[in-house]
Amino acid sequence: MNIQEQALTQNSEKHKVAKIAIIGAGPGGLATAIALRNKGFDVQVYEKAQEFRPAGTGLGLSPNGLNCLEAISPGIVESLKISGTELRQTALKNVSGETIRANTAKYLEKYGQTFIIVWWWNLQQVLASRLPSDIIHLNHRCIGFKQNDSNVEIYFDGGNTVNADLLIGADGVNSVIRETLTGEGKPNYLRSMCWRSVIKYNHELFNSYDLVFIKGNKQFMYLLNVGDGYTSWISRKFLPDCSLSQSAEQVKSRILHELKDWDKSFRAVVEATPAEEIKEHPICDRPPLSHWSQGRVTLLGDAAHPMAPAMAQGANSSFEDAYELQACLSQKSTLEAALIRYEQRRIERTQVIQGRSALGEMRYYETDTETSERQMQERSQLANNDDFQTWLYGYKPY
Ligand SMILES: Cc1cc2nc3c(=O)[nH]c(=O)nc-3n(C[C@H](O)[C@H](O)[C@H](O)COP(=O)(O)OP(=O)(O)OC[C@H]3O[C@@H](n4cnc5c(N)ncnc54)[C@H](O)[C@@H]3O)c2cc1C
Repeated sequence: MNIQEQALTQNSEKHKVAKIAIIGAGPGGLATAIALRNKGFDVQVYEKAQEFRPAGTGLGLSPNGLNCLEAISPGIVESLKISGTELRQTALKNVSGETIRANTAKYLEKYGQTFIIVWWWNLQQVLASRLPSDIIHLNHRCIGFKQNDSNVEIYFDGGNTVNADLLIGADGVNSVIRETLTGEGKPNYLRSMCWRSVIKYNHELFNSYDLVFIKGNKQFMYLLNVGDGYTSWISRKFLPDCSLSQSAEQVKSRILHELKDWDKSFRAVVEATPAEEIKEHPICDRPPLSHWSQGRVTLLGDAAHPMAPAMAQGANSSFEDAYELQACLSQKSTLEAALIRYEQRRIERTQVIQGRSALGEMRYYETDTETSERQMQERSQLANNDDFQTWLYGYKPY
């Protein structure tokens, strides 16, 4: 018996959980699969996409998320630095292109870990490369499950069924697993519309900055250098009523219209993007749940705590979940005890991050006067804000 088989046998006896099915090969699902396999569990990942292909936006990976990933898969932070860009310089600009403020990132000095910008797709590739390809089952759209005391039966589009001892729903904001557990329906629209893409485009600003934030009137844009000559642009606008365009061409002309008064260097990145590669979608979250687990089923990442992107914590908190779920399943003697502990370790923290993220999304749309008034009021609470950042970024896996 090899080491992995021995570990698998020990774990199955100890926890009566040998076979784990994860729905979703996003950052959360893949990180969890790596973590659990390293502890000897038999893990299978089911993903609805027919193939891994370029998708998603530029993501900021902060010290808390990177510390958890590194604990799950040593050496991964170095791989991500190569696949993405280590954040050094950032700039805040106005729509005419003038620099209002430039900053040097201080994450390493302050929190002992760096900050990396990476394309969601490249992150998926880095994580998938740390798993055997035969445990990731593409073209498997989960449509539901049924469970009893001894197992979970999971159903897929096309009639496939698999059985597992534990089902982890890591299937994002529109999670089928969460819907089956809660029946809560559609997510909340946060009055913020998003247009985004990642294209091969070396923006002139990247000679000096890795991340540029451009603030307009009730709208803003991020330009992220995701490495290897690729730019991720993310444009958002305050829009109380959610309305979607009818075609790819309409999406592109809509966003160019929104940016009509902006400096041509910002518009140029949108003009250079093929219409069919621009994604338009509403920014949404869901109310926090008091429980993420029922019997042999639990949730993780966006399926458990979808949040506005304002604090750049969606993927980062899914890495925290992955580490903690693995630790709970390895340390607790029963599945029930492990899932109770997992919720105790995760729900309160992610509720705070979700709440702050929704607030942060609206702060993007403040006028300059509103921002300075708020900052005046907050000045007395600065120590609290610093404490909050230390609490957020200083999170370390136990
Ligand atoms: C504009 C924008 C900017 C963002 N910026 C940041 C950032 O800077 N930092 C950060 O940490 N986060 C950021 N996020 C959030 C981040 O993208 C998500 O929180 C993160 O991707 C969640 O990972 P996940 O694995 O839980 O879910 P997802 O990434 O949504 O992955 C879910 C996976 O499940 C699959 N799936 C879905 N349904 C099924 C099904 N029924 N059957 C099988 N498979 C299924 C999907 O195809 C997908 O591969 C941002 C999000 C947006 C929209």
